[in-house]
Amino acid sequence: MSSTTQTTPMAPIPLSRKPSGRADPGARTACIRTFGCQMNVHDSDRIRRMIQDAGYAEVQRYEDADLVILNTCYVRENAVDRVKGHLGELNRLRREGRVKKVALTGCIGAAEESATLQQTYDIDLVLGTHNTYELAEFVGLPTMQETYTPELPGTEGGHNAFVTIMTGCNYQCSYCIVPAVRGRMICRPMGSVIGEVENLVAGGAGYITLLGQTVDAWRHEGKRFCDLLEAVAESAPRVWFTTSHPSNMEDRTLRAIGEQDTIVKRLHLPVQSGSDRMLKVMHRGYKAERYRRKIEVFREAAPDGTLSTDIIVGHPGETEEDHEQTLRLVEDCAFDSAYIFKFSPRRGTEAAQLPGTVPDAVVQRRFLEVLRQVEQNAFARNQRKVGGVEEIYIRHGSTEDGKAIGETWSGHAVHVETNIAPGAYVKAKIESAGPHVLYAGEPLE
Ligand code: SAM
Ligand code: SF4
Repeated sequence: MSSTTQTTPMAPIPLSRKPSGRADPGARTACIRTFGCQMNVHDSDRIRRMIQDAGYAEVQRYEDADLVILNTCYVRENAVDRVKGHLGELNRLRREGRVKKVALTGCIGAAEESATLQQTYDIDLVLGTHNTYELAEFVGLPTMQETYTPELPGTEGGHNAFVTIMTGCNYQCSYCIVPAVRGRMICRPMGSVIGEVENLVAGGAGYITLLGQTVDAWRHEGKRFCDLLEAVAESAPRVWFTTSHPSNMEDRTLRAIGEQDTIVKRLHLPVQSGSDRMLKVMHRGYKAERYRRKIEVFREAAPDGTLSTDIIVGHPGETEEDHEQTLRLVEDCAFDSAYIFKFSPRRGTEAAQLPGTVPDAVVQRRFLEVLRQVEQNAFARNQRKVGGVEEIYIRHGSTEDGKAIGETWSGHAVHVETNIAPGAYVKAKIESAGPHVLYAGEPLE
């Protein structure tokens, strides 16, 4: 787990149908690039199934692709800059005749700016987040049965699987473009979620991650998120969920994390700021004290568990006193990791119009101060794991240095010296720890 600048919390999940990197001679080829959060990774998985059904072979390099699909993120400006860089490169490859068609999907596709991008760059198809199914027609599928609804199944098979339980968001945080590009919340029926989880588990999935922008806001026909989580935890051998909103997080959910053996004891609960004044400006709907109380409940329920958060530094109007309060909250909550973002103005959001821009140099200093505070706490907490023996779920197979990447039940990321395949559990002793990761020796059995 990491403290980082501009990355959205993202557990890297291997995809069920891995691209081979080589296509049959004569087959049409497509290359998918994904930018942004788990929601986008999951959407890319659906896109992958569509193009494979249409007879495309997936390739890794643009120059090998007849069709390139950029599945994009719009949350911060630097995500858009990255996509522009890729579009420039694709224009060049098209001029050389090495790429035939380009499609832009995802959150940029749903934003007004996509029209300008389509004019500036040579893009054949632009799709938002609600009409991804139109890609089917574009790639030559005769009819498209499935529309983009939360019912559309995600990854099949594989050891780790995402399951979308809700889409969109009903909040209106001052800085955030998500409600504009993803729409209002739609919750998927419980039976449909459980059905998909059971199918995935029967197909070999050992780790289910429930997904949504405000996953804990899920409710359907009198049931609330905790009911759904408990039911999923009965059906799956290992379960996690992201992203939660503090206003929706119920104490009973926090207690369930501690009590249910199959739930990973890891909570991602974005706080954004430690200052009540800023939380009000951001329309977050809670005060810092209420957030602290939630964390107390979590720590009591899962004392060994891991806690991560999102923090924005430099939101318009953020004063030195507001920043001090954020530092104090970071210290009090002792996060195991945090995703720290520099405020990025998004056209169409309230914060983009607000006075009180914080100078870049001040934003940078505050960013580093928050980062340092998070890393100090995380390092100290990780040190406490050294010497212990942990049961570790292997998420990714061994890398060039012979280390696999796994996760403890407490939600700590661990590098383990093993070649064992992903999806397996091993027991190993934690030999050392850094601020972001634990290091284990060879498995004991
Ligand atoms: N729904 C989640 C929540 O409310 O916590 C977060 C979803 S958002 C895609 C992920 C994170 O990006 C947010 O928690 C926030 O910290 C950050 N973010 C969103 N808009 C931003 C902006 N305009 N500038 C900087 N960070 C931003
Ligand atoms: Fe954006 Fe706020 Fe909704 Fe999260 S809760 S997606 S930050 S509007």
